[in-house]
Amino acid sequence: LEDQLRQSQKMEAVGQLTGGLAHDFNNMLTGIMGGVDMVRRRIAEGRIADIDRFLEAAMQSGQRAAALTHRLLAFSRRQTLDSRPLDVGALAESMGDLLLRTLGEQIQLRIAADQDLWPALADDNQLESAILNLAINARDAMPTGGRLTISSHNVTLPAEALVHSDRAEPGDYVEVRVSDTGSGMPPDVLEKVFDPFFTTKPLGQGTGLGLSMIYGFVQQSRGHVRIESRQGLGTTIHLYLPRHRGEIADQATNDAMNAGAGS
Ligand code: ADP
Repeated sequence: LEDQLRQSQKMEAVGQLTGGLAHDFNNMLTGIMGGVDMVRRRIAEGRIADIDRFLEAAMQSGQRAAALTHRLLAFSRRQTLDSRPLDVGALAESMGDLLLRTLGEQIQLRIAADQDLWPALADDNQLESAILNLAINARDAMPTGGRLTISSHNVTLPAEALVHSDRAEPGDYVEVRVSDTGSGMPPDVLEKVFDPFFTTKPLGQGTGLGLSMIYGFVQQSRGHVRIESRQGLGTTIHLYLPRHRGEIADQATNDAMNAGAGS
């Protein structure tokens, strides 16, 4: 009975989700068709001087729709992780320029790491995209500027810290902490942030997939994720990735580990 209940709740969630998505997508199509229709009329009337802006609007709607389907595909594809020993501090450091460009001039960026940071076992591409997504969220939460700090730490998590995690075990982790001085989140938002397609952003600006993808990546890596947020003060996201132990693994060991950790 419990299984049936869970199943029907799942179906309900899927129904809501596809409904919302169809709605978003439809709005984007309306944007495209509206733009094309305007251009057609202007041409018929012989007033073509400023049709560029209608084409531009149509183009933008098209790009938004493409971005949405792109992220959907990335989300639905069962991504196989390529977990390897990784210097998380160096990876964050190497993203400095990209992050500065993404954040704009109003936001101060600080990137730091513990001395003797442990190597983590994680997929570098996935972690990079996670950090970029978190930085974009932080930027959106600081429209008038603020501070973004990305720091990496060695931590040992006890079992009590992992009660909400199905895959992580107590032990050593490399923590990536992304902290902003933005708007923070009210409790009802905080509760839903990991739900796919949950967003508070205006139409076309948010897909609501960022944090759910990060959640998936961290779970698949056998790690853990935690969010702290205080309204009006800011938000801190903690990603805990398992510490890599032993020698730098060779490819065969890596493949074996991926086979174990994947899907
Ligand atoms: P999206 O950014 O497309 O909305 P996410 O899954 O990344 O999707 O985020 C879901 C929601 O969580 C956001 O719409 C926003 O309301 C909230 N959120 C995420 N990160 C932050 C943050 N750093 N500060 C405040 N709110 C945030």
